[in-house]
Amino acid sequence: MAQQGIQKTQAQQASGVVQYGKYDPSVSQEEQGFFASDLDFLKLSVGDNVVRFLPPPVGWDRPYVLVKQHFIQADGMEKGFSVVCARQMARERCIICEKISEFKAMGNDIQYQLAEKMFARARAFANVIDRRNPELGPRILAFGKTVFEQLSKIAADNGDYCDPETGFDINITRVGTGQQDTKYFLIPRGSSLLGDLNWIAEATDLSKFAKIDSAEEIMRRCGDLFAPRQPARRMPGPFPPGRQLPAQPQAQPQAQPQPRQPAQRTVADDMNDTFPKGY
Ligand SMILES: [Zn+2]
Repeated sequence: MAQQGIQKTQAQQASGVVQYGKYDPSVSQEEQGFFASDLDFLKLSVGDNVVRFLPPPVGWDRPYVLVKQHFIQADGMEKGFSVVCARQMARERCIICEKISEFKAMGNDIQYQLAEKMFARARAFANVIDRRNPELGPRILAFGKTVFEQLSKIAADNGDYCDPETGFDINITRVGTGQQDTKYFLIPRGSSLLGDLNWIAEATDLSKFAKIDSAEEIMRRCGDLFAPRQPARRMPGPFPPGRQLPAQPQAQPQAQPQPRQPAQRTVADDMNDTFPKGY
């Protein structure tokens, strides 16, 4: 206490006025988006976020795209990433679904938990204008089931919210920041014009979020997940022989030592940087 008193006295003595600014902690919340890897994504702040959904592109009948995707974060991965589920989106072979089945069949807790984390979950992507930063133009809002359900109810009760002339903004209130305790509450605002019609042409092509990667690309990104296991290093444990090393013929190329390729960022990376899993 005495120390603080001395410092204050010295600062005041320097010129008679306080020679420093005052930090308003509330600005840091708004600045969080600055650190997102891709500013095209809108990260909802705690509190109110007023957004305007852009209308669907020509030929579409809805302003969002719905995607079933796996979230992958295996041991040793610094951060996870998303993979569109080929089985649920296109009825094609999905190597992540196959990996989930394999892990579940192994019957131990660790693999089962990993499998559970990888189950495909639904997400939606839409072009919106952040009314707080309209100068940034259209941005991508990624959202899950709770936001989607409220949005659908607003559409049913109040009509086409994304019409540029007769639509309306929507206030999304975010409460909490954790994976488990974050909640969203949507409230329609009064009817208003979209504003700049050029935004419609500037919108992101949402179909890219539903793009299905090749099995090779997915395996490359998954790294260890598809490499033959090395139980001696990872699990010096009591696994019965035969459970440890399911042969993965398609994974053989991954096992060869090869120079690490520079990571190629994808949409899924960007999304995961911006939106924590479970969002
Ligand atoms: Zn799948």
